[in-house]
Amino acid sequence: MAGLDPEDWGSLRALGHRMLDDMIDRLATQSSDADPADNPVWQPMPASERQALRRPLPRGPSDPAELYEQFQQRIVPYALGNTHPRFMGWVHGGGTGIGMLAEMLAAGLNANLGGRDHAPIELERTVIRWAAEMVGMPDTSSGLLVTGSSMANMIAVLTARRAWAGPTVRSGGVGSLGLVGYAGSSAHGCIPRAFDMAGLGTEALRAVPVDPNHRMSLPALEAAIARDRAAGLHPFIVVATAGSVDTGAIDDLDAIATLCARERIWFHVDGAFGALAALSPTLRQHLAGIERADSLAFDFHKWAQVPYDAGCVVVRDAGAQADAFAQTLAYLGREDRGAAGNAPWPCDLGPDLSRGFRALKVWMTLGTYGADRMGEMVDQCCAVARHLAARIEAEPDLELLAPVGLNIVCFRFCRGADDLDQFNAELVKDLHESGIAVPSTTTIGGVRAIRAAIVNHRTQNHDADIMIDGLLALAALRHSR
Ligand SMILES: *Cc1c(COP(=O)(O)O)cnc(C)c1O
Repeated sequence: MAGLDPEDWGSLRALGHRMLDDMIDRLATQSSDADPADNPVWQPMPASERQALRRPLPRGPSDPAELYEQFQQRIVPYALGNTHPRFMGWVHGGGTGIGMLAEMLAAGLNANLGGRDHAPIELERTVIRWAAEMVGMPDTSSGLLVTGSSMANMIAVLTARRAWAGPTVRSGGVGSLGLVGYAGSSAHGCIPRAFDMAGLGTEALRAVPVDPNHRMSLPALEAAIARDRAAGLHPFIVVATAGSVDTGAIDDLDAIATLCARERIWFHVDGAFGALAALSPTLRQHLAGIERADSLAFDFHKWAQVPYDAGCVVVRDAGAQADAFAQTLAYLGREDRGAAGNAPWPCDLGPDLSRGFRALKVWMTLGTYGADRMGEMVDQCCAVARHLAARIEAEPDLELLAPVGLNIVCFRFCRGADDLDQFNAELVKDLHESGIAVPSTTTIGGVRAIRAAIVNHRTQNHDADIMIDGLLALAALRHSR
């Protein structure tokens, strides 16, 4: 018995074809027209199924067809539902068929994109150049595909830290350097986490107040920087948000870029989903200034619909990114030719050594649709959000809680209960369990909000209507009880 390959390639091939057919059938039925009763967005996983997955480490072999049976029975029906047009919770991409196929090809090659000289790395470099082109950053920028914007933001913070503090920070740590950074109070939670993981501490991140449109206040940012400088501290980074997670607000990137240039502070943009608006001719103006970023974090797995996971960081000064991460190790020597050529390697640009071939699914997805079609899809999502907002404004029991500038709609039932926060929270859980639609919740101006983020290319106006009709019916049901 040599190796793990099957004795019978024919049965593996047949199983593979069946898997492909089943998954394509499943994707083909994720349309708005499917009856909600047959196709719940989400359903709770029964305790028996949960228990069935908790088996000990298998000591002997199993038939892959039997494992696939379990996948169909126990996993597929209880997935989160973000391929469904009425999934509007958090910020989840919908995925595409071509992305799924690219994942299969990447797994078949089993490429390791940590480094060395091979074509998959050239493809990742191409995708990074495309990312820079999308937002107008120079084609000499460096970058990396990573798990998500959480990791991309982390890499940017570490790159800015190294750029300010010099080479000794990598061995000596931040100790008493006095580095401080700034982000709007509605910045994503991965920013303080990056400060924590970078050894800066979350207190070194100043939460700058936001204005009534949920954008970072420029006067407040300037005042905070002046205060810290007066106290002998060293402002080194401003994290602007392009598409905030709670309301979709976009900070004034151009003004912040100018301020950072004047103050000699690293200008980072968290554009996790919002950066994709750069592909829309109508929305692009809202991102003016993003091309001036020293670094940018965004996700291909959110609005660009690439299957999870596919985050991206782009750094204007390629040398700065390598300075922050590159190592010299005897067992990873770079050569002038042979398979160990092609320096710098991706492992010089981030914390991972072994890395999968994420670039293929990004390349195939962008290649299949083209950037213009992607921009239209982004526009379409925003049009659905505007339709939803209009519908909310027309319903006397509902109110909008934040302006709808992009694709996120925050609203609530504004009457019908003493404790409106609890009423709205319970209704969202009712809606999830009904299988009709899955929005999420957040807090806006101190009150509980129902939050619908239109990130899925499959979501249409009538999906928004079905969600509102479902919420109204469930509210009536609660009142009749
Ligand atoms: C989703 C999101 C993140 C985190 O990205 P992940 O890909 O989930 O790690 C960061 N910032 C914003 C604004 C986001 O919407």
